[in-house]
Amino acid sequence: MAPDSTTQNPLPNIDFRIATFLQSASNLGNAPSDTGSEVAFAGRSNAGKSSAINTLTANRKLARTSRTPGRTQLINFFSLSDSQRLVDLPGYGYAKVPLKMKQEWNRHMANYLQKRQSLRGLILLMDIRHPLTDADEQMIGWAATAQMPIHALLTKADKLKRGPAKATLLSVQGRLSEFGDLASVQLFSSLKGDGLPALRTKLKTWLTDDSVFDEPSLPEDQ
Ligand code: GDP
Repeated sequence: MAPDSTTQNPLPNIDFRIATFLQSASNLGNAPSDTGSEVAFAGRSNAGKSSAINTLTANRKLARTSRTPGRTQLINFFSLSDSQRLVDLPGYGYAKVPLKMKQEWNRHMANYLQKRQSLRGLILLMDIRHPLTDADEQMIGWAATAQMPIHALLTKADKLKRGPAKATLLSVQGRLSEFGDLASVQLFSSLKGDGLPALRTKLKTWLTDDSVFDEPSLPEDQ
């Protein structure tokens, strides 16, 4: 598991409360221009993704909490600044979604994780009582193929006592350890606000990491 490398230098602050809805997209073709940095939130339907985004942004209405799981298949983009975005990916793993829709979703997600240049990392939300489902593993697999960093949130941590919560954390940590520095995990509760500072730190690290913009210098006058 990666040590927290974010404690050495103070990170530029990002006020997540200023997040505003930018646009929805059904696929990469109609997404906002692929510049700057973005972090995507993914998880099974009902994992607590909308609640987490709303808690993070202190905006109860920004991401809609799901009434019909699996209904919305749109990717929603929220703007933090001209060059920083949060992305709400459609919830997955809902049994009643038709196979064709699932296959379409799979294609879009694999494509998004592999092709989106501005994507800096994936926040993977899993209900602490049902982590690492097959659908989560599929998502992890795509991220690993794309060498995309993952930070897992074990959501609704308030539903478990401290001991079982810690045991689940360790077990998921063990599962993700094969990805070394590319993966990390924490406990999270939207209800209690637990884990919010750690989530903010991770997002700031990813959204302000300008090392990815370093261009190799080209020799002049070729
Ligand atoms: P989404 O489908 O992933 O967007 O999930 P939602 O954010 O709509 O949450 C699904 C359900 O879990 C809702 O009934 C929420 O009230 C509940 N929920 C979400 N976060 C928490 C939490 O931190 N603690 C508890 N106890 N319930 C939560």
